[in-house]
Amino acid sequence: MNYSYTQIAQYLRCPRSYRHRYLDGWREKGTRAAMIFGRCFEKALESYFCGDDCAAALHREWGAFRDTAFEYKKGETWDRLLHQGVHLLERFAQDNRIRIPQPQENLQLKVVRELPNANEFVAYIDAIGELDGTRCLMDWKTTTTRYPEEPVGLLTLDPQLICYSWMTEISDVALVVFVRKHQPEIQYLRTLISEEQRLEFGHLVATTIGQIEAAQFPAHSGIRFPQNGCVSCAHLGLCLDDQKLIESSLTLTPGANNLAWLDELVD
Ligand code: SF4
Repeated sequence: MNYSYTQIAQYLRCPRSYRHRYLDGWREKGTRAAMIFGRCFEKALESYFCGDDCAAALHREWGAFRDTAFEYKKGETWDRLLHQGVHLLERFAQDNRIRIPQPQENLQLKVVRELPNANEFVAYIDAIGELDGTRCLMDWKTTTTRYPEEPVGLLTLDPQLICYSWMTEISDVALVVFVRKHQPEIQYLRTLISEEQRLEFGHLVATTIGQIEAAQFPAHSGIRFPQNGCVSCAHLGLCLDDQKLIESSLTLTPGANNLAWLDELVD
């Protein structure tokens, strides 16, 4: 079995949802425009570090989806996303805080870690390079919301950064957040992940895989009010046995397990 951060995170959120998605193959219908735009933006960043015209790369990549019927959030349009992306790329070039030596080797790195019982853990690291002269592992995020910077140290608890630090043994990690808003903003957030946190994450992965292999999939509906996780869960129709909801929001993909690692690419 190949495991990824996305899978472990989904199991920890709700084991029943993990079963619906990764064992039974129920996936959400429709594709969010912002998710595909994020992938196109990352390609444009690759062009930037390779010394090519990154705005042209974004036009090309995102242009391929101009007529695709994505789900756009209120106020989002294809043109608006493009406009925001170009602004963010300009700002990024002006800031000039990141160096990626040998970009062909240090962007979108696939890292594989062998686990017991012939299992593997797969991660795709966005970049390894220098932020303000300090070597670190970097994760890009395109979003409409700023990452909270208070209280100080919050980023140290970011589970995805801890996972990537565990995979690479690199302590210095950074989150580069491209905030898509009227006045584009880029947050460059750096932190250190300790050896203890990496060990702890390794134990968490082992325990979680043990529970998956033991077929433990209890429903964890989470907090009752006001942040009831079921309300935003794609699998709500299955848990409520609501055929109408299932048909409107889900699609069944046979063999979903074999392709589960692909989720990591869009996370
Ligand atoms: S609807 Fe609730 S209980 Fe069911 S899979 Fe989703 S989060 Fe879990």
